[in-house]
Amino acid sequence: SPQGCFDVVVIGAGPSGSVAASLLNQKGYRVLVLEKQHFPRFSIGESLLPQSMAFLEQAGMLEAVEAGGFQFKNGAAFTRGSEYSFFDFREKFSQGWGTTFQVQRDRFDKILADEAEKQGVTIQYGQTVTAFEPTSLTVQTETGESYQISARFVLDASGFGRVLPRLLDMELPSCLESRTSIFTHIQDNITDSRFDRNKILIAVHPVHNDIWFWLIPFNNGRASVGVVTPHGFLAKTGGDEATQLRRLISESGMLATVLENAVYDTRIGKIEGYSCDVTSLYGEGFALLGNAGEFLDPVFSSGVTIALKSASLAADTVDRQLSGQQPDWNQEFAIPLKQGIDTFREFVEGWYDGRLQDVIFASEKSDKIKRMVSSVLAGYAWDAKNPYVKDTSRLTTLAELCRLS
Ligand code: FAD
Repeated sequence: SPQGCFDVVVIGAGPSGSVAASLLNQKGYRVLVLEKQHFPRFSIGESLLPQSMAFLEQAGMLEAVEAGGFQFKNGAAFTRGSEYSFFDFREKFSQGWGTTFQVQRDRFDKILADEAEKQGVTIQYGQTVTAFEPTSLTVQTETGESYQISARFVLDASGFGRVLPRLLDMELPSCLESRTSIFTHIQDNITDSRFDRNKILIAVHPVHNDIWFWLIPFNNGRASVGVVTPHGFLAKTGGDEATQLRRLISESGMLATVLENAVYDTRIGKIEGYSCDVTSLYGEGFALLGNAGEFLDPVFSSGVTIALKSASLAADTVDRQLSGQQPDWNQEFAIPLKQGIDTFREFVEGWYDGRLQDVIFASEKSDKIKRMVSSVLAGYAWDAKNPYVKDTSRLTTLAELCRLS
């Protein structure tokens, strides 16, 4: 078991855990990260948003990520039937980064964890947190022994492990509908010049507007491809998951053509009912980061960005707490974090009810408004200067205008 006394123990070494650990270490705290698995390990969530670059920079990890040689990304492209539209994230309303990367998460997460370790954070792998009390955690090793570790504060960054929400009975169903995703990695063999490798491609199923696909290219001729369907849809279609994925892709229009020479050489992953919420994002002696708190939907690739934003806000608030300043966790952490999550939620709801799809595929858009929408899609969901962040109901009015034109 790890020796010594730690100010902060972080559960999980995914992006939110590594960045929070790094920021607290920078502030002079002794930080321990307990990670159940061994890295590198697979994770879904491969397309980053430009807003996330600011948090990587803050954690002193951007140089290492840039040196990782990941696929450059400058925007998002969308297709539905014969329609095609794209947003270049450099053309946006908010200040800040306009480009980012699409990353193989096994390598990306390991880079962040290794950087945190180099900066002075202690990370122990193969350690599963099994119980919590304020200032104390129970941990199980891979050989089955348990030990206790004390910490002045605990950050739960366990992702879909959702350790503290489960242990403390804080789980809430999401307000979003339950959906299922199947996905894989492919040798993409793309030669079609309509595909822009510097953008994620989101394709809407030509018949079912609530089914959509992602194509996230990597820089080595490979790509991540996946589909999101309503809960229960796949069960009705028959065949195994590989057959279901191939069949849906064959129906997908432009995406099917782009992928006509792809080689499917990797097993299929599946994740269901991933949208989730909690009764509170903090409590006595702990706070929840990233997916351990609320997770919405993969459609705008906002997961890692929200995870890093939560790490950044929590690090400041933990600092104030441990230096005896009695921060107001609701005002300083939960409310500011939820502002951006609520912006994304409105966009996600607008995607599935058709408002946002009508905005995206509208043939005429004012440049000014396009920049505002581009900003949110680039992850600047906390920039209250943006009218579409300040008042998300504007999306409804915009969709009506787009339908009229
Ligand atoms: P994670 O990265 O999940 O890390 C949690 C870590 O905690 C894991 O390493 C785990 O082993 C560890 N852990 C779990 N339980 C314990 C325990 N008991 N003790 C110790 N350690 C534990 N996001 C994007 O930004 N872009 C995308 O394109 C995107 N696509 C997605 C597609 C799908 C289908 C889904 C479902 C999600 C997608 N996401 C995407 C979301 C993204 O996967 C997550 O938001 C992101 O990984 C959250 O990071 P995290 O740091 O909260 O947790």
